[in-house]
Amino acid sequence: VGCGICVKKCPFEAIDIITLPEELEYPTHRYGPNTFVLYGLPAPVEGKVTGVIGANGIGKSTSMKILSGQISPNIGIFTEEVRWEEILKKYTGTELFDYLQRLSKGSIKASVKPQYIDVIPKVFQGNVWDLLKTTDERGSLDKYLDILSIRQILDQDIKNLSGGELQRVALAAALARNADFYFLDEVTPYLDIYQRMAAAKAIRELANEKPVVLIEHDIAILDMLADTVHVAYGKPAVFGIITRPKGVRIGINQYLDGFLPEENVRFRDYQVTFEVRAHKDGAERSPLLVIPEMKRSFDRFSLTVLPGEIFAGEVIGIVGQNGIGKSTFAKLLAGVEKPDSGAMETSVRISYKPQYLKAESSDTVEFFLRQIARNFDSPQYQHDIIEGLTLAPILQLPVNTLSGGELQRVAIAACLSQPADLYVLDEPSAHLDVEQRVRLTKVFRNQVEGKEAAILVIDHDIYVIDIISERLLVFDGDPGVRGEAKGPFDMRTGMNMFLSQLGVTFRRDMSGRPRINKPESYLDREQKSKGEYYYQD
Ligand code: ADP
Ligand code: ADP
Ligand code: MG
Repeated sequence: VGCGICVKKCPFEAIDIITLPEELEYPTHRYGPNTFVLYGLPAPVEGKVTGVIGANGIGKSTSMKILSGQISPNIGIFTEEVRWEEILKKYTGTELFDYLQRLSKGSIKASVKPQYIDVIPKVFQGNVWDLLKTTDERGSLDKYLDILSIRQILDQDIKNLSGGELQRVALAAALARNADFYFLDEVTPYLDIYQRMAAAKAIRELANEKPVVLIEHDIAILDMLADTVHVAYGKPAVFGIITRPKGVRIGINQYLDGFLPEENVRFRDYQVTFEVRAHKDGAERSPLLVIPEMKRSFDRFSLTVLPGEIFAGEVIGIVGQNGIGKSTFAKLLAGVEKPDSGAMETSVRISYKPQYLKAESSDTVEFFLRQIARNFDSPQYQHDIIEGLTLAPILQLPVNTLSGGELQRVAIAACLSQPADLYVLDEPSAHLDVEQRVRLTKVFRNQVEGKEAAILVIDHDIYVIDIISERLLVFDGDPGVRGEAKGPFDMRTGMNMFLSQLGVTFRRDMSGRPRINKPESYLDREQKSKGEYYYQD
């Protein structure tokens, strides 16, 4: 399939195009015959954070690898070596010309935070300080050790770090280097909201001096951090188009709408919307089980779980900072950890998806899921799980070759394939794109609606929590020292409780989308004085 004269209907038959966007005139890069093809590129800008938002498999990482010099773009020609002159000719008069000319001369130094950090322990041996000390090229590492809370883990072995710790170390390493341009491929996976905002602050500061390009699926964070966004759309694994830059609020809203007015393109047939007012809790639902009061102490940390009632058919969000006992709570429910006092009813069946996923098996996804799901061939399983999590294209792939987002979807499927009364999923949004995050709502509802089961979801993406949850369980306390699990509460009470701990308020834009208020802004102070951190009255 080629692309050139694309009017009315895209030749890839994936999207409706009424007029031909400029970006589609010639490809930026094609990996080889019948492989993925990319159109357009994000443009780094002095003093700015340039955001990129779009589905997985749509070429975002490819575009970053081109800009950072890891891949030489071939303008769609892979049969012969393409000379830079040919490439530059195509970009004459565009905002990327100067950049690509510098790139062609090898005079751009790029610093990159790669998307998947789990490879770091495989290629680096040593502790955190061994890794970071060689990156301090601007004299600012010391500052990042504090902003990103790394100082207390400096002597830990890289291979023993949690995902959230490794993410912060990888980010510090990328930011500390002295480069002309900075490329950050997803910074939020495994970070709590507090850490996400700290990372945003560090990136924002750097952008005042050096251009930053950021790929991100946590829209609340992207929104507060980026100056402009490029929307990436198309058909995953087939082709991707990166638009010209848009203002961050407008670009994100167009992305959520699935419609790009300037380009005249509809790339999704539904909109993503948010509740302005807190929705009703599931009061009319019937009781399913009671979480008893429980306590569990380790050498340095103690968790108290206050009693709470769970109703059949509900999806409950769990919010709280990292290190406050959420995973320990999940393990107490699952019976993996034993409480010091109190005990979970032994008859309650729990299915648990851990936060960090391992994929060593070379079995195919289908073989793996068939071992867990006895009803694999049933129309309901095929519809709710295989279609709901878009697993069909990857069923024949070996589990150990999956990308982060693919592995996440398989792990969610495996968790939901087990018969259980309570499903507990720890950060299912990590590495999923926005479409996939939104689809989780439907998948979770189908799993428990009208059934004697409920779902608990730990997540740090506030939009995900907003969209999927009917009620909230809130963790309070002092990370690494003590934690207290309270609730579940209705959405308004839960959000106010959680966000007041963090001191973060949200306003609404015209579309109803929540946006993080600038600390100490008029709205921030007003909402805090009223105690309304998230919903409008
Ligand atoms: P995103 O970052 O938006 O998730 P990527 O840029 O990683 O997307 O990938 C876009 C598409 O290009 C995917 O279908 C991926 O499989 C394909 N791709 C990535 N790298 C290569 C490669 N080296 N050879 C062939 N195809 C590739
Ligand atoms: P969260 O899921 O909220 O990030 P965790 O439940 O994973 O928090 O951890 C809470 C605290 O308990 C952390 O300080 C962690 O180091 C500590 N902790 C967890 N498991 C153990 C254990 N088996 N032994 C000692 N400390 C532990
Ligand atoms: Mg990517």
